[in-house]
Amino acid sequence: MDKFEEKMGELASEGLSDEEIGKKLLDEMGDLCICPDCPMYNQCAEKNYEGLYCILGLSKCKLEEDDCICQECEVAEELELKNDLFCITGPEKELRGL
Ligand code: SF4
Ligand code: SF4
Repeated sequence: MDKFEEKMGELASEGLSDEEIGKKLLDEMGDLCICPDCPMYNQCAEKNYEGLYCILGLSKCKLEEDDCICQECEVAEELELKNDLFCITGPEKELRGL
C-alpha cells in the first residue's frame, strides 16, 4: 500500500464521504497545487477557483491538452500519485480503479 491508499483509507475510516474527503484535502493541500502554473489552466479554471484535480476530479472548463506539470507538484510527491492530467481524465482514485 502506498501513501495515497494509506491516506484514503485513513480518511475513509474516519467515516468521511468522498465529498468530505475532498474538502478536507483541499484545506490541507490546496495551497500546494501548482495547476495555476500549468499551460492547460485557463481563465475559466481561474474564475472557478479550480485546482487539486487529482483529488476533486475533472475540470468543468474546456481545457486544451498540453504538458501536465503534476509531476513537479508537492502533492503528487507526498501522496505518491501514479497518474497525471487529472483535470481531463479524472481523479487519482478513479484512475486507479479504487
Ligand atoms: S498533483 Fe496536479 S492536480 Fe494535484 S495538486 Fe498537484 S498540480 Fe494540482
Ligand atoms: S492536472 Fe495537470 S494538466 Fe491539469 S491543470 Fe493541473 S497540472 Fe495542468
